[in-house]
Amino acid sequence: MPLLLDGAVVAATIRAEVAVDVAAFRARYGRAPALRVVLVGDHPASASYVRGKTRAAAEVGLDAQTIPLPDTTTEAELLSLVAGLNADDAVDGILVQLPLPDRIAERHVIEAVHPSKDVDGFHPVNAGRVVTTTGGMAPCTPSGVVELLRRYEIPTVGKHAVVVGRSNIVGRPMAWLLTRPPQNATVTLCHRFTPDLGAMTRQADLLVVAVGQAGMITEGMVKPGAVVVDVGINRIEAPETERGYRLVGDVDFESVAHKVSAITPVPGGVGPMTIAMLLCNTVSAARARLGQI
Ligand code: NAD
Repeated sequence: MPLLLDGAVVAATIRAEVAVDVAAFRARYGRAPALRVVLVGDHPASASYVRGKTRAAAEVGLDAQTIPLPDTTTEAELLSLVAGLNADDAVDGILVQLPLPDRIAERHVIEAVHPSKDVDGFHPVNAGRVVTTTGGMAPCTPSGVVELLRRYEIPTVGKHAVVVGRSNIVGRPMAWLLTRPPQNATVTLCHRFTPDLGAMTRQADLLVVAVGQAGMITEGMVKPGAVVVDVGINRIEAPETERGYRLVGDVDFESVAHKVSAITPVPGGVGPMTIAMLLCNTVSAARARLGQI
């Protein structure tokens, strides 16, 4: 059996560490680091992600509040709210849950959040800092993958990492984080125009998949002994369950698991790590800001 990279267990350890950091911050500055999560509309998956984030933040002692806005919110209204949060010295981290309704340009909103409060790590300034290895806040999902590998002492130096998916929030920053020290992997970044995906993925010592297609990576597409990280979260119908659906990853876990040395489950792999890194980013943002005030 492969090593199961248990993100839920590792994330619980990180949350306990963050709780200690939050208490120390509170003792020093007289308040907890403050996170504001903005939710536009009531998309069920987004609402559930936001609940998970604010609950986890509150549990470690952060001052976490959700700001719910109606589905009819305009871009101008949202930008004005973000400007207010940027200007508010009592707010350290701002997260606007994506996706946003079609009439709001996500890019405008991402670029409106001040980089020092951008705990999602989506602002081009933070993306540029990650690329140029000059600090910056890294996006939570890829940094969660790096942290999961680090805590399981999975070697990455000199390994061939293949990342599938090139979104700005997962695939691209994942590739950059894996190339930079101390990860120092050799990285191939694949996407929808990669002609023979299997030929690429079969070369991977470390395969990270972030596409959003249930079970797309099958047994024949992985190298024996590889480490596989499945970022995908897909809902598939399951009438036998209470909710009527099940969550599965982009990797066909059943067929792939027996062939590899380590693999993340879905759920319970990368997902909990994403939330844990959000908490870390919020504490870092607060420390950096208050250290300067
Ligand atoms: P996205 O739709 O923005 O990007 C998908 C990427 O996959 C694109 O770059 C596209 O080029 C590539 N792609 C599509 N079809 C392909 C194919 N046949 N072969 C190779 N590449 C292909 O998605 P995203 O926001 O990066 O999310 C990807 C998945 O990760 C989704 O399932 C999402 O739910 C999940 N996700 C999980 C977490 C977490 O915390 N675990 C966080 C973010 C996203």
